[in-house]
Amino acid sequence: MEKEFNYLVDQFADLQVLRYEVPGFEELSLKQKLLLYHLSEAALMGRDILYDQNCRYNLRIRRTLEAIYIHYDGDRSCADFQALEVYLKRVWFANGIHHHYAEDKFIPAFSADYFKQLLSSVSPEYLPLVDDETPETLFGKLYPIMFDKNVMPKRTVQSGDVDWVQSSANNYYGGGISQTEVESFYGKMKIDSPSDVPVSFGLNSRLVKENGTIKEKVWKVGGLYTKAIEPIVAELEKAAKYAENERQKDIIETLVSYYKSGDLKTFDAYSILWVEDTASEVDFVNGFIETYGDPLGLKASWESVVDFQNHPATERTKVISSNAQWFEDHSPVDNRFKKKKVKGVSAKVITVAMLGGDCYPSTPIGINLPNADWIRKDYGSKSVTIENIMQAYDKAAQGSGFSEEFVWSGAERDLIKKYGFVTDILHTDLHECLGHGSGQLLAGVDSDSLKAYASTLEEARADLFGLYYLADPKMKELGLVPDAEAFKAGYYKYMMNGLMTQLVRIELGKNVEEAHMRNRQLIAKWVYEQGKTEHVVEWRKKNGKNYVVINDYLRLRELFGQLLAEVQRIKSEGDYEAGRQLVETYGVRIDLELHKEVKERYEKLHLSPYKGFVNPVMRLMKDASETIVDVKLDYTESYTEQMLRYSKEYSYLPVIND
Ligand code: ZN
Repeated sequence: MEKEFNYLVDQFADLQVLRYEVPGFEELSLKQKLLLYHLSEAALMGRDILYDQNCRYNLRIRRTLEAIYIHYDGDRSCADFQALEVYLKRVWFANGIHHHYAEDKFIPAFSADYFKQLLSSVSPEYLPLVDDETPETLFGKLYPIMFDKNVMPKRTVQSGDVDWVQSSANNYYGGGISQTEVESFYGKMKIDSPSDVPVSFGLNSRLVKENGTIKEKVWKVGGLYTKAIEPIVAELEKAAKYAENERQKDIIETLVSYYKSGDLKTFDAYSILWVEDTASEVDFVNGFIETYGDPLGLKASWESVVDFQNHPATERTKVISSNAQWFEDHSPVDNRFKKKKVKGVSAKVITVAMLGGDCYPSTPIGINLPNADWIRKDYGSKSVTIENIMQAYDKAAQGSGFSEEFVWSGAERDLIKKYGFVTDILHTDLHECLGHGSGQLLAGVDSDSLKAYASTLEEARADLFGLYYLADPKMKELGLVPDAEAFKAGYYKYMMNGLMTQLVRIELGKNVEEAHMRNRQLIAKWVYEQGKTEHVVEWRKKNGKNYVVINDYLRLRELFGQLLAEVQRIKSEGDYEAGRQLVETYGVRIDLELHKEVKERYEKLHLSPYKGFVNPVMRLMKDASETIVDVKLDYTESYTEQMLRYSKEYSYLPVIND
């Protein structure tokens, strides 16, 4: 019997916490599972580093709140305590006191007096007191940080005529250091060591000023954050024993050596080994990787992703790309614009098994690394999509009320429920693996002819290629869809989104600006207009609300084909004027009345704009003689349980890290 998997785990403030499944884990070998296990432990061990990077008070605040949450024995049902719980959940979600996305500080909905009272009611031994601190002096320190909206208001300041380094609340630079000082420090480094293969200066350190001298405190064994980095290294060394091959062992050992030395040249060596490994089943990211959090884009936050190859999905993209010539030959495009020899791209798809640091709980749906430009140029990059995370998003959306509100009838809803995800990912595959690579310019045509309309038209071309083939019998023949009905789910979702629901993301009174959104509206409106007299697609009203209805799916496919032929012609001939007309007529303007209606309907659903994930629990299974016989995944942990457990088991750093 199939067990019902619960995707929605928790909901509070503007956040929703979901759970992802890890399909295929059980079929892996014990050795691979143990490799994943140790990499996953290492993924969780750097959690405190990110808290401290985000703001120097984060660890103190988190541990103070946790002490209260665990040990307070007064009334827990009152509004104040509930507000404290929500605040703590938000701190966990954001890895600190600033919103994970908007970056501004969120203020508790309970009063400072209440907080003070809670602090004094918990036994001091549970509080993260330093030196001769008392609960009262701790309150004095935390009060402005938590409650005064003018103190440390934003995590990363990257605009405006202010000193970005000093205005940012994060902890990448020590007190008293200015933006100019940082810029000249790293500017000089670059001048002093010119190179075609430059290291990423500043990536793994905090820059501080001590006694008037500016210097780096490197994040490494024996350096800053050593208490968290040491166990990560120990766990990586255990993982190396289960490496699938010599190269992977080398990758792990090079990363360990980088964590020990802090030498950025070693990090580059590791990145090159990593990007060239496409053979291993298991893969991972662990370290100081993305620099979005630093106002100057130099210093990287700590993150980890542990994953393995998703064979069924990668096979799917291989099937598509190995048939690339067939698709090119049979497309409705004029023969002069077709490639005689076309090469499909095979997309790589992975299954995530553990998320940590800056990838948790808020998670990317794809990875594209390494970041160093010269490595990307000389060695390429690894670009992967994470299908089990996309799947969890899709499942959660099904219970959100969105379909009930915007889809015309139960018939379409059933189609979407049954085939929506299959056709979504298939359309993405067709778009990426074939669409962008299809077609050719006529000789002598300048590839920049379409100017400002180029990216919208290019996305339209790729989308139309996917839409056209989604309904082709070839899909069934290649085993990519279960039956001849499936494409209808993709068509309905596409039309509803392009004509209506994507408008929820646009401010009232504005035009459509973003290229992907313009492309979707262009396609949906064009086929709607062209099929109008035949009623291929129509608007219908029910209880005063507008809905999209598709009456003739096969005719709709022909219209997609016609538009594909036209967009390809525009590109191949460099017909700027026709391209401009198409985008301006169909892709840009919004009917204000419809826009208002759609936004109002959407707001009534009270959907959480931001989502994140809890991880599965990995358990080592032992037999009577204590030999490990298996690794099992457990999906029952709640959000609060997981966060409290991580805080207990992976709290390696002191509350102050100088
Ligand atoms: Zn694209």
